[in-house]
Amino acid sequence: MKAIVKTSAEPGAEICEVVDARITRPDQILVKVIAASICGTDYHVYSWDRWSAGRVKPPRIMGHEFAGEVVEIGSDVTGLAVGDYVSGESHWVCGHCRQCRMNDRHVCANTRILGVDVDGCFAPYVVVPEASAWKNSRSIPPHLACIQDPLGNAVHAALAGEIIGCSVAVLGCGPIGIFAVGVARACGASTIFATDTQDYRLDLARKLGSDYEINVLHHDLDKKIAEYTNGEGVDVILEMSGAASAIQQAMRICRPGGRVSLMGIPTHPVELEMAEDMIFKGLTINCIVGRKLYETWDTMRALLASGRLNVEPAITHRMHYTDFNRGMELMRDGRCGKVVFEF
Ligand SMILES: [Zn+2]
Ligand SMILES: [Zn+2]
Repeated sequence: MKAIVKTSAEPGAEICEVVDARITRPDQILVKVIAASICGTDYHVYSWDRWSAGRVKPPRIMGHEFAGEVVEIGSDVTGLAVGDYVSGESHWVCGHCRQCRMNDRHVCANTRILGVDVDGCFAPYVVVPEASAWKNSRSIPPHLACIQDPLGNAVHAALAGEIIGCSVAVLGCGPIGIFAVGVARACGASTIFATDTQDYRLDLARKLGSDYEINVLHHDLDKKIAEYTNGEGVDVILEMSGAASAIQQAMRICRPGGRVSLMGIPTHPVELEMAEDMIFKGLTINCIVGRKLYETWDTMRALLASGRLNVEPAITHRMHYTDFNRGMELMRDGRCGKVVFEF
């Protein structure tokens, strides 16, 4: 089969002929991939940033966000059958470490990531453990079913505290940010503010349901929020950018007693005015990583299947997977929502 492979420890990737994916353990399933989407992580691996260089061991088939059909099952698989329509949780967890046993599997000590630590789904077939597959509702089309891994991050972040009737600010409108806007809207947020440095992305946020889009290159966010909230601040901040300036702003624009959920990943240590902006304001801070296995997936299925959450506008590009270089260029320029590969 032909797969998108990170062939060497330098920027780029190639379409290569690789050995067909096949089941090697009794708990695995073989999935025929129908759709897969590009994640920021894939772009990091493609561009070979510091994190990738320290973690990925080429050659490695890339990709971790997919939807497809089960075409073969291992002898120990009991919950899935040939013909089932599945997506995958990209974090393969061990099931036996302390966190796994305490139902904190999203922070498993032995997490392996599809397409990073093991061969991924940018190929016509992928092998995954039954425990990492999620059976989809047939009502969700493949180009939407494949984006549930990042959508799950947004669901996890938005629902990490009260959301009904709350004002929400989403800082950073990459795909997970715009998903977070959609989830907040679907789950009963009152006013939703979206911020970014690119108008293209703010337009996507508007399509997903934000009320105010603020380009922080052209506007003073603190002033704008003070103006829109009568100086009270915002109830819930979902920080998706990882930019130091945005994390600092998150603490400032949050109302006293409010919540800041941090998901964006800073590349360097961030200095915070903790006394005035956080402690004396009694903020609740939570740190969001991955998805709760599998509570987040269950909530997401309900939101998608009910039609309350429409993420269609977030899928801005669809292309055959052999066009991946074009997809990666779109990711580099940031002029895209989700880029979906078809197989
Ligand atoms: Zn991803
Ligand atoms: Zn574990």
